[in-house]
Amino acid sequence: MAKAMAAAEVGDDVLDHDPTMRALEEKSAQLLGTAAALWVPSGTMGNLIALSLHLHRGDRFLAPRGAHVLTHELGSAAWLAGGMPEPLEWNAGPGRPTADVIRAEASDGERYDALRTTLLCLENTHNGAGGAVIPPHEHAQLAAAARDCGLRVHLDGARLWNAATSLGVPPAALTVGVDTVQACLSKGLGAPVGSVVAGTSDFVREARRVRKMLGGGVRQGGVL
Ligand SMILES: *Cc1c(COP(=O)(O)O)cnc(C)c1O
Repeated sequence: MAKAMAAAEVGDDVLDHDPTMRALEEKSAQLLGTAAALWVPSGTMGNLIALSLHLHRGDRFLAPRGAHVLTHELGSAAWLAGGMPEPLEWNAGPGRPTADVIRAEASDGERYDALRTTLLCLENTHNGAGGAVIPPHEHAQLAAAARDCGLRVHLDGARLWNAATSLGVPPAALTVGVDTVQACLSKGLGAPVGSVVAGTSDFVREARRVRKMLGGGVRQGGVL
C-alpha cells in the first residue's frame, strides 16, 4: 500500500480532478451500482453531506436505534443537516426494523405543526448491533416501504463491503432502492483515510459543493 501511495499519479482535486481519485470514484460507483461517487475524508462527512442534501429544517428522519448517524456523529444530522432524528425499534432482529414500522412512522399527518418525515437512513452492517447484516430481499423491502411513503433513502454503508462479503453478494445488491450510499475505504478495506458517498450525477455534483463547504476538498489526494 505504501508503495502504491508513493507511486500514485496526482493532480489537484480542488481545481479540477486528481486522476487517481477520479479512477477510485468511478470504480466505487460501479461497485455500488450508482451513476457517480465522490471521495470524502471520512464516513461521518459522507453521511453529513448526504443528509444535508436530503433534509431541510422541519424535517424528520428515521434510522434504526443505535445507528451511527444517531449515536456517533455528535448530532450533526440534527444541528448541521437540520433533521429531527426518530429511532426505529429492531422488530425484525438486531439492528433491523420492519417495513411496517417504517410505514407507521412515515405517515404522521399533515398538521402544520408536525415535522415532515422525509428520509430513511439504513445502516448495513449495523455496527451498534454487533455487525448485523440485512440481506438483499429484506433491504429492498425496507427501501420500497420508505419510497411508497414518499421518503428518500440513504444507506450508511460504512461496512457495506463486510455485509456483501458475509452474504456472498455484490455490494450493488445491497443498494437497491437507495438514493445515496456512503461506504468507508478505511474500515474493512484498510485504506489509511477516506470514504465514498455515491448516488446520481446530480447528487454528486451538489455533494462536491457541500464537501468543499465543510473543508473536505483535498488537493493531491491520489496518494490516499
Ligand atoms: C465508522 C463508521 C462511520 C463513520 O466513519 P468515519 O470514517 O469514522 O467518520 C459511519 N457509520 C458506520 C456504521 C461506521 O462504522
